[in-house]
Amino acid sequence: MRLDGAALMRRLPPVRGALEPMRPLADLTWLRVGGPAEVFFQPADAEDLAAFLAETPADVPVTVLGVGSNVIVRDGGLPGVTIRLGRGFNRVERVGETGLRAGAAVLDAQLAKAAATYGIAGFSFLRGVPGSVGGALRMNAGCYGAYVADVFVSACAVDRSGAAWRLTREDMGFGYRHVSAPADLIFTEAEFAGTPGDPAALIAEMDALMRRRAESQPVRERTAGSTFRNPAGRSSTAAPDHPQEMNAWALIERAGCRGMALGGARISPMHANFLINTGGATATDLENLGEVVRNKVFLTTGVQLEWEVARIGIHPDA
Ligand SMILES: Cc1cc2nc3c(=O)[nH]c(=O)nc-3n(C[C@H](O)[C@H](O)[C@H](O)COP(=O)(O)OP(=O)(O)OC[C@H]3O[C@@H](n4cnc5c(N)ncnc54)[C@H](O)[C@@H]3O)c2cc1C
Repeated sequence: MRLDGAALMRRLPPVRGALEPMRPLADLTWLRVGGPAEVFFQPADAEDLAAFLAETPADVPVTVLGVGSNVIVRDGGLPGVTIRLGRGFNRVERVGETGLRAGAAVLDAQLAKAAATYGIAGFSFLRGVPGSVGGALRMNAGCYGAYVADVFVSACAVDRSGAAWRLTREDMGFGYRHVSAPADLIFTEAEFAGTPGDPAALIAEMDALMRRRAESQPVRERTAGSTFRNPAGRSSTAAPDHPQEMNAWALIERAGCRGMALGGARISPMHANFLINTGGATATDLENLGEVVRNKVFLTTGVQLEWEVARIGIHPDA
């Protein structure tokens, strides 16, 4: 399949933000791989986004990217329009004593720091998640036992037809690294609630969390975080070392895949569930290595790992 950004541009409505044909995406993802967006759109604000979606022909595929910390963009690029929310979506404001409202482009770390500044507890876990609020909502991001669901109050979103949505907790359907809200929704803003906290204690909590992560995860590498979802917890009767009860990293290690390489892709020697681009990897290298690992884990343990990293776009030879 060949992307034709110029032809697609002619079918798109005028916008107040920026539209760009054949925009390379590698520099917008943590893994630094992948092809271009056929057309790349940065809306000026939520109204611009809604009007664009309403007027864009229904057969044009639309993909939304956050800051690309949980995606592999395939080497053939992304057909249709890729949307990235920017300046018009990056405000954080306090709501009452212990609430926060944040645009979808706000970084998770920025939200955690704002919460600490206002003395609002419950957000420190987001300090170490390198994504945006939009990505955190879609993935129910979390770490060390805390999740976005714990502080979530409501979210605003726009669907593929340009209609505005307001979602409650029930509408979101939070699960492990997953929400069941319709896949075409683009979150534009969310409201959160914490509890009263002491700013100095919250800053110390975030610092401790960052030290803990730096000791156990390759946070300075080109990576997309946890590659596979943890299968743990499917059975209540199995022993803790039963494959179904183990974390993905432990299964990958048991299958002998720690440090395994394919082209420029490698399984991190530091944390076996992190796939890294050592420099010259292609998206195909990374995805193929992931599939080799899935196969080996299945043959060794009987567990079928599921990708947590979103793999989007087309294979170069498709
Ligand atoms: C070093 C490292 C450590 C990590 N540690 C953690 C961790 O501890 N816990 C954790 O949960 N994750 C972790 N991650 C993964 C990642 O940071 C999270 O999944 C994050 O929430 C993704 O946000 P993003 O903005 O980068 O989204 P992207 O990677 O750009 O996109 C991820 C998904 O979210 C969707 N999306 C993005 N924005 C929107 C929006 N506005 N509306 C609707 N859908 C949207 C995309 O379409 C895609 O499906 C880590 C990643 C790295 C690189």
